Amino acid sequence: MANEEKCTHDCSSCGENCPSKQGKESLLAPQNKMSNVKKVIAVVSGKGGVGKSLTTSMLAVLFSRMEFNTAILDADITGPSIPKIFGLHGQLVRGDDNGMFPIETTTGIKIMSTNLLLPYEEAPVVWRGPVIAGTVKQFWTDVIWDDVDYMFVDMPPGTGDVPLTVFQSLPIDGIVIVTTPQDLVSMIVGKAVNMAKMMNIPIMGIVENMSYLECPDCGRKISVFGESKLDEVAKEYNIDVLARVPIDAKLSAACDKGAIELMENDSMDTACQIIINRTKESK
Ligand code: ADP
Repeated sequence: MANEEKCTHDCSSCGENCPSKQGKESLLAPQNKMSNVKKVIAVVSGKGGVGKSLTTSMLAVLFSRMEFNTAILDADITGPSIPKIFGLHGQLVRGDDNGMFPIETTTGIKIMSTNLLLPYEEAPVVWRGPVIAGTVKQFWTDVIWDDVDYMFVDMPPGTGDVPLTVFQSLPIDGIVIVTTPQDLVSMIVGKAVNMAKMMNIPIMGIVENMSYLECPDCGRKISVFGESKLDEVAKEYNIDVLARVPIDAKLSAACDKGAIELMENDSMDTACQIIINRTKESK
């Protein structure tokens, strides 16, 4: 079999790092035969708690508002927070012979997450790496992602074994890196950038979450964690700044209440435009 035939994506526009061109077997998991997903954007972070799930959710909400058919694959298997952010409680995934159906949010965003498969939300997911990575593959292969323009993947944090397997298994079109000013050190961004390069996946840019706090009285922007190094780091790695998201009690309240679809926040508008423009040419 020719190498190209083993590859499950259209690699005609890929660079030399594409497995098909290196004589390596593609590790991409096959898509469900009933699925049709046009673009896949992975949202990554160096560690947990920096706002990766919030960023994934905000992007999905904004894309959905722009009339794109939008989905979220929650690949943060051991710390799934997407169902809670969208207020999905007690809805269990159904399936038929062709696969599982994602759950739809109030505004029609399709979601698959381990928390939608567990009998109760607090059930711990004490699985080892290969089982976790296998679950993410199943979320791609066994779920019927019917007619999706943009799928956002809430990745497991870090650049270890599990995120690496997920990167190799899904046909990712672009990566969004999420950091906070405290962990916006060149090394953390460098690891994500190098992982993306190894996989030959374009980086859409970087989101600095909890970037500043706006004084409720005078509107002044307060850099709670010291002066931001965002521009410096973005320049060092030649990547775009997608957004600076403020610390906003309304955002965390919206997440806690499962009401992210009602939130108004314009800090991600530029990020959406950059992602749309940069993914126009891919595939
Ligand atoms: P991660 O996915 O990186 O682990 P989350 O998106 O779950 O992080 O965010 C961690 C917590 O911080 C959540 O409770 C979330 O509501 C809160 N949070 C994240 N970003 C902000 C923000 N910009 N303003 C207020 N709260 C935030």
